[in-house]
Order: sequence, then structure tokens, then C-alpha cells
Amino acid sequence: MSDLECPYCEADLDVCHDDGFGYSEGVAHEMQCYECEKNFVFHTSISFYYEPKKADCLNGSPHRLKIMETSRSTITRCKDCEYEKYEWKAGKND
Ligand SMILES: [Zn+2]
Ligand SMILES: [Zn+2]
Repeated sequence: MSDLECPYCEADLDVCHDDGFGYSEGVAHEMQCYECEKNFVFHTSISFYYEPKKADCLNGSPHRLKIMETSRSTITRCKDCEYEKYEWKAGKND
């Protein structure tokens, strides 16, 4: 996927990020189209992507636990939230 389209000829262009060019927000970055060779400016807006997910265990329901066994411990993790519990297996000292 290309970074942007030339506003003159609509060519797909990639911003050259050498030296961090083009990352600052709120500034006009000058660029020359390498298809039609016209100069134009672009503004950078950095967007974050959030993916919301239901977590019933944070609303009174039990955690949806997933148990993982390793040789030294039992790890219990919730599939929905950050709950995590380690149980070390006794006896084995090496
Ligand atoms: Zn162009
Ligand atoms: Zn949970």
C-alpha cells in the first residue's frame, strides 16, 4: 500500500522516511511527485487503532480461564482480561 496519492496526477507515492522525514504532525511536508515532478505538500496525521472487545469478567462474570502447563508451573490466564496466575510445581529442584 502506498503512503499517499499525488494531488496532481494521482500517482501512488511512498514517502521517503529517511532521517524521520514526514513523521511530525501539524507541519506541511514538501514533496515532489516522482511521476509528474510537481511539488506539493502533505500533512501527517498519526492514527491509532483500537479494537474493543467484551470482557464479561470485568462485569461480574467469572474469568474465561485457559490453563497452560509447563514443566515447572501451571499458568492460568484469562482469555478476556489481564488476569494471570502462576502456580509453581513443588518438589522438583534442579
Ligand atoms: Zn504527480
Ligand atoms: Zn478475565
